[in-house]
Amino acid sequence: MSKILIIEDEPNIRELVKYNLEANGYEAVEAEDGNIGMTKIYTEKPDLVLLDIMLPKKDGYEICREMRSEGNNTPIIMLTAKTEEVDKVLGLEFGADDYIPKPFGVRELMARIKAVLRRYDISEAAAASEVSPIVNVDGLRIDFDRREVTLEGKNVDLTFKEFELLGFLAKNRGHVFTRDELLDKVWGIDYAGETRTVDVHIRYLRKKLGDNDERFIETIRGKGYRMR
Ligand code: CA
Repeated sequence: MSKILIIEDEPNIRELVKYNLEANGYEAVEAEDGNIGMTKIYTEKPDLVLLDIMLPKKDGYEICREMRSEGNNTPIIMLTAKTEEVDKVLGLEFGADDYIPKPFGVRELMARIKAVLRRYDISEAAAASEVSPIVNVDGLRIDFDRREVTLEGKNVDLTFKEFELLGFLAKNRGHVFTRDELLDKVWGIDYAGETRTVDVHIRYLRKKLGDNDERFIETIRGKGYRMR
């Protein structure tokens, strides 16, 4: 059963959401201000956070930013009355997973929760699937303990980020990641660069791996990259 934390200062919204979550088979935990919310994120370890923006003590933006900068990737759906803030909320600056404008319908909220949880489960499964400290792909060998990469037995010299990027793709082989996702996962949520950064690193990686024909890293048009 997934546990959902509702951080919302309006008691009637909290109550309504809690009632519907429980009716849909979720466990619901409540917090009425930002400080209590932040504490419960760590004590309750929810699977998803419903986060209001305007909150006493600490607002939703701060909570979101704090979680991501601490490396907490729990999915967040922002409850927002300010639709103009959406870009900011979903962007790299805060890193929420989705938002729902107030006032919202309960059915729509439930659908969003379901979708975000499903998306999160898929990426978690992908991250957990290749835990071996050494990955071999068609003559390419990545040793995660030693941070060494060899191609047909020959050492390949990679920068720190190149190794991180290659390693991340290799650990999640077959899974397509968008440039934004790669920025998030490899550079971290606080990184203020643009998605072009990813393309540049991929280009260097390909050069070093002699990967002209996308033997290792495949470009998926309109989507992103994946390791074959
Ligand atoms: Ca509020």
